[in-house]
Amino acid sequence: MTQRDYYEILGVPRNASLDDIKTAFRTLARQYHPDVSKEPDAEEKFKEINEAYGVLSDADKRARYDRYGRAGLGDMGGMHDFTMDFSDLFEELFGSFGFGMGGRRSRRMPRRGRDLKKEVKLTFEEAVFGVEKEIEFSRDEVCSTCGGNGAEPGTTPQRCATCNGQGEVRQVRQTILGAVVQTSTCPTCGGRGEVIATPCHTCRGKGLERKTVTKKVKIPAGVDKGTQIRLAGEGQPGTYGGPNGNLYLVLNVKPHKFFQRRDDDILLNLDINVAQAVLGAEITVPTVDGTEKLHIPPGTQPGKVFKIRARGIPHLRRSGRGDQLVIVNVNIPKHLTAEQRELFEKLAATLNTEVKPQERGFMDWLNEMLGG
Ligand SMILES: [Zn+2]
Ligand SMILES: [Zn+2]
Repeated sequence: MTQRDYYEILGVPRNASLDDIKTAFRTLARQYHPDVSKEPDAEEKFKEINEAYGVLSDADKRARYDRYGRAGLGDMGGMHDFTMDFSDLFEELFGSFGFGMGGRRSRRMPRRGRDLKKEVKLTFEEAVFGVEKEIEFSRDEVCSTCGGNGAEPGTTPQRCATCNGQGEVRQVRQTILGAVVQTSTCPTCGGRGEVIATPCHTCRGKGLERKTVTKKVKIPAGVDKGTQIRLAGEGQPGTYGGPNGNLYLVLNVKPHKFFQRRDDDILLNLDINVAQAVLGAEITVPTVDGTEKLHIPPGTQPGKVFKIRARGIPHLRRSGRGDQLVIVNVNIPKHLTAEQRELFEKLAATLNTEVKPQERGFMDWLNEMLGG
């Protein structure tokens, strides 16, 4: 029996709560458990920790210890409790440890199913306005033939004789601490606690079956390439009562013939002819909502951008929409009819034919191109 003060051993103050004592004990017990710790005096320390815990975790013993010291505890000190609680303690420690022992806990613990991913292709318009889609994907589901227990209908899984249905086998070892129970996953049933004599012909005993699932999914307006939509619980099934994983739809948007997206605005490059640029015009432009009239004022320069309000993409998580931006390109005719040529020549005669640099002229442009 140790002569050190029990509070000191656990590193807790004298007014520590039972929870504090438990926490301190668990931390130290994990650190110094002789099967785990590499420290030379681990066994001695572990004994001490257990003895201290045996006393301080028992209200009656603690009170006697506080009042009379070690003398108040009689012959056995903390040892009695310790041996009684030991197998629970061991399981608790190694269950949460997961050192390859405690097979039952780690193998049969509820586990969440895996997440699944599925790419969904949308047209440009579907991404803009949202769409209801039928999504097809495959995942494992509880086997419809055996109901998930893995046994051929008409037969039932039998309790595993090796582990008596526990899923783990225990070996009792004698140490100076008394009987130490070591557990490992049952080699016969692999931790399930059951053996299947006649495996189900559909799932070959796995209890799961690959299924193709179709789901109707509402894709909201305003999504973009790369947007993910989570379908909670539609992934792989959980095991041992764990929740299902999720299905993530990863959206891909096909490029449009002439609309381009920039954030929530839609860009449209539009050709107009020289006469329209010079004289002005009322033109009809396509938008995602249909056609719209656009007024081109006289003297419109190439590259001019016109904004059509609220004809862009709906904002995904708030109200309102982006705009459509129409970028005007002036088409210079390459082939002229005789009549058109005559008209241009007449026009040329009326214009100043002297070629002079623009304000931001040719040399500036050239320098820019050459990186100067
Ligand atoms: Zn089956
Ligand atoms: Zn077994």
